[in-house]
Formats: sequence, C-alpha cells, structure tokens
Amino acid sequence: MSPWIRPQIGVSSCLIGEPVRFNGGHSRDRFLAGELDEHVDWVPFCPEVEAGLGTPRETLRLEEGEHGERLMLRKSRVDLTATMREVTDRRIATLEVDGYVFKSKSPSCGIHGIPVYDANDHPARRTRGVFAQKIIETYPLLPAEDEGRLNDAVLREQFVERIFAHARLRVLFETGWKPRDLVEFHSRHKMQLLAHDPEGYRAAGRVVSHAGSAPREELERDYTVAFQSIMSRKSTIGRNVNALHHCLGMVGHALDDARRADLVEVIDAYQGHQVAIAVPMTLLLHHAKGEAAEYVQDQTFFAPFPAELRLRNHVPA
Ligand code: SF4
Repeated sequence: MSPWIRPQIGVSSCLIGEPVRFNGGHSRDRFLAGELDEHVDWVPFCPEVEAGLGTPRETLRLEEGEHGERLMLRKSRVDLTATMREVTDRRIATLEVDGYVFKSKSPSCGIHGIPVYDANDHPARRTRGVFAQKIIETYPLLPAEDEGRLNDAVLREQFVERIFAHARLRVLFETGWKPRDLVEFHSRHKMQLLAHDPEGYRAAGRVVSHAGSAPREELERDYTVAFQSIMSRKSTIGRNVNALHHCLGMVGHALDDARRADLVEVIDAYQGHQVAIAVPMTLLLHHAKGEAAEYVQDQTFFAPFPAELRLRNHVPA
C-alpha cells in the first residue's frame, strides 16, 4: 500500500469523465483522470446539474446586470444567479478538500477570463464563474487551478506540491496530535518551507514555539494560516538553491573534497538553468543516506509528492 496520504480534491465532475456537460458529453482530462487519479481522492461536483439543469441542457453565459454579472440561460432568458449562489452555499457548508481543480471557460466553474456580455452582446469584461468565484473567495488559501493551467509543468508541480502539503497538515490536525508532533511536522518541512518563503518559515516557527502553552484550536488555526500562506508563495530557483545549500551544510562535513565539489557543481548547474532540480536533490539525498543524515533524508523537500508523478524533471526556464 502507498505510504502517501491521499489528498482530497474538489473537481468539476466533467474533468474526470462524468457526462454532465451541456451537450451530454464530458471533458475528461488526461492528467487528472490518468496519472493524478492514482494518488488522490476526487470530490466531484457539477454545480449546473446540482442547480437542477438536465443533461443535455441549454447553454449559459454571464451577462452584465445592474448589480454585477448574472448567470443566464441564453435562449430562455432565465436568470440562474440566485439558484447558483444557493447551490454554492450548500456546497461550501460541507466542503473539506485539500485543493480544487475547476473546468476552464465555464460561466459556472471557470477561474480565469470568463466573458461578461453587455447589452450589445459584446464581451465587455472578464471574470470568474459564479460557483468558482465564491469557493475561491471563501477559501483564499486553498490550492485552486483549472485544467488548462495544469498543462504548464511549473504550475502543475506547484499545485501538486501544495495539495500533498495541505493533506499532510489536515491529517496531522485530524489525529490527537501532541505538541511534539507539531514541532516534528514543522521541522520535517523546514527546507520545503524555506524554498517558498524564508520569512514565513520563521513566522510559522514562532507559532510552533507556543505548542504546549497556547490553546490547541488557536495553534491549529494560526499554524494552518501560516503554513498555507507559505505554500501559496511560489518557490524560486534562488530559494531552492538556498535550501539545497542548507542541506549541503548538514552533510558536506562528512564528505571528501571531491564529493563536496560535485555537489556544489550540480547545485550551480541547477542555478544556471542547465539541469532540473531532481539532479542536485538526488545526489544530496544519496550522500545524506550514505552518511546517515536522517534529518536531511526526512525532509519533505526531497519527496513532496509521489515520485511516480515525475514532476521534478523539468529544467527551469
Ligand atoms: S458546470 Fe462545471 S462541472 Fe458541470 S459541466 Fe459545466 S464545467 Fe463541468
């Protein structure tokens, strides 16, 4: 059995092959329904079906109203804005997920560039779909993407990294955790957090320093916000290099000059955009195992998600 905690991921149902689209079809996404499917539990939801629309159905679009955009059935001119808001509120009341993948270009599910038509039938501006907008507003730190953006190697890796981190923290707080468990969790994530936001890492550490004295709910709330805020910031090559050098500092003393020079060389090659981060990571991990440097080996930085997803092999642009 896989040792990985399976993230629970909200998803627009059509993306994993459910035939709920207006034309009775689906928009099965190869990565989501293929590779990622083996590692996550989906929480599918089609807001238009939940709003009582059949399949197949009339198409919808956003139109400019007096007080913001309206979700309209194009032909019959029925305004579904209030219904969709009720559907969304019901969904939010029970939503417990580690991330969300929305269908692009949908007036309900889209998260980027959904046209709002004016009285002249022109796309006057662009916004989010009605359902997606409320989910993102309610959970601003929830990892959320659409399937189109997940075709980008960097965005895909960042999203997958975040959902697995989110799931680990959720499971920690779901169990009867003790202060030392939170200290250990933070310590195991040190390099990963440093690669995203060094200042945020130190702020989260201040929360952890109250483990054992502050009320549990307060600690859970404050650490969750701190941790998810850090993970929402993009890791950069410079910060990854910084984390790699931290690790090198912990194993380097046990290596001879030649092996230490090799490590510095591959870290430099990564910094120079010549190799993927997997190259210095693999070499560092190899030496950490050889020198029994458990603190380094156990860092989530080296294994933030299952290796089978093969996400760390792109050379930085
Ligand atoms: S409403 Fe969302 S889940 Fe349903 S078919 Fe449209 S895009 Fe897919």
